[in-house]
Amino acid sequence: MPSRPRSLAIIGSGPAGYTAGLYAARAELAPVLFEGSVTAGGALMTTPTVENFPGQPHGITGPDLMGNMRKQAQRFGCEMVREDVTRLELTGRTKQLETGDDGVYTFDAVILATGATHKHLGLPDEERLTGSGVSTCATCDGAFYRDRPVAVVGGGDSALEEALFLSRFATSVTLIHRRGSLRGSKVMQARVLAHPKITIRWNTEVTGLLGEDHLEAIAIRDDTDGRTAQLVVSGLFIAIGRVPNSELVRGQLPLDDDGYVIVEHPTTATGVPGVFACGDLVDRRYRQAITAAGSGCAAALDAEHYLSALRQPAVPNASENDPPGPPPVGARADHSAPTITAELVDETSLADTMLTSTVPVLVDFWAENCAPCQLMHPVLDHIARRYQDRLRVVKINVDSNREAARNYAITTAPTLKLFVAGKVARTIVGATPASKLATELEPFLG
Ligand code: NAP
Repeated sequence: MPSRPRSLAIIGSGPAGYTAGLYAARAELAPVLFEGSVTAGGALMTTPTVENFPGQPHGITGPDLMGNMRKQAQRFGCEMVREDVTRLELTGRTKQLETGDDGVYTFDAVILATGATHKHLGLPDEERLTGSGVSTCATCDGAFYRDRPVAVVGGGDSALEEALFLSRFATSVTLIHRRGSLRGSKVMQARVLAHPKITIRWNTEVTGLLGEDHLEAIAIRDDTDGRTAQLVVSGLFIAIGRVPNSELVRGQLPLDDDGYVIVEHPTTATGVPGVFACGDLVDRRYRQAITAAGSGCAAALDAEHYLSALRQPAVPNASENDPPGPPPVGARADHSAPTITAELVDETSLADTMLTSTVPVLVDFWAENCAPCQLMHPVLDHIARRYQDRLRVVKINVDSNREAARNYAITTAPTLKLFVAGKVARTIVGATPASKLATELEPFLG
């Protein structure tokens, strides 16, 4: 265990986390920001366009906005760590933090900015068909539904945005909303209502998902008269809001009935000294990128105040004069220059690889506009190095190799398929941390 705590950990990498990182770094608190192994950038990484972030008169894509925030925090010395925090001990004077890569770190203060996760409908076949027609990310998967009918569930800005995005590819988009009026902003409502490809089913609920290997239709019920029907769609995009990611701190911090961390408004202080919370983890009301960024700023200022009251000078970023303290966590991933990485293949070389490989082959089907796919690239390089003699790891871009995507029935990105002796042994859908991927793969690697 590290002998001396660093001053400040920030957990979470949405607008709240990166803004907290920026302010804390400029205040010379030497923050360490745990971004998550495959979740860096947070929910905005799957948002096609953000039109209402001040200072962006022409709008900006979610990934660009997050990339800029990240760079700005780094510029002032915020250390980024692409690891998942798996355990937190917040109650003592020193806060202890563990990561999925078995790292144990101690800090004087912690800012929680872990955001929120997509809600699910809770239908019996939802999990089974996720990645096979059911999705929560139109920007990742929309292009797989070219010339096919799709549906979107929800009535908020996310659902409206997804419906508009999907209208670029799909033959038709049915927006299914459980009430008779939309919750999303007026400007988005107007665009959806005027769109020739988008139809709205009001007061309607999705009651079932139909299809064996892939979604073929959905069962719906009109709540005004109880009538049921089936709607033939190849894709269902669920955009019904999010739930706060507070599991890590349950039992240690006061949470409300829905799991939001309770803070001492107008500050970001939680009930535990030295622990601050911000962004969607706290906010059930506004939930905008700009309000999350604002609360991240407030959390950094609150943490600065707390740390100066402790009268303990912040430990600067690792330098030659540093006392032996905790390892420079952000540098861990960069120490070994990667000589072995996942290989990029096309349709022809993928077929060759399948024929000639004497070890199992892991194929990553990735798409260009898919932020989770970008996050998976370093994870796959890591897996390629870790199992270099036992596994071949290749990546194929489904945008430029559509035939391969069709042949392997890929409908979501990223999709990983493990081939053993030329046959699919395992399919893993979505961004997956290296530790979980290793657990999935190891039984097949001998
Ligand atoms: P939201 O505003 O909470 O909307 C969720 C929608 O899903 C609501 O219409 C809700 O219906 C419906 N819903 C909830 N649970 C459901 C269930 N079990 N079955 C069927 N429908 C269900 O969530 P959001 O759209 O993700 O937006 C979250 C926040 O982010 C909002 O503040 C939004 O303005 C913001 N946002 C902004 C942008 C942008 O500005 N570019 C883009 C996306 C999101 P009811 O209406 O009946 O409650």
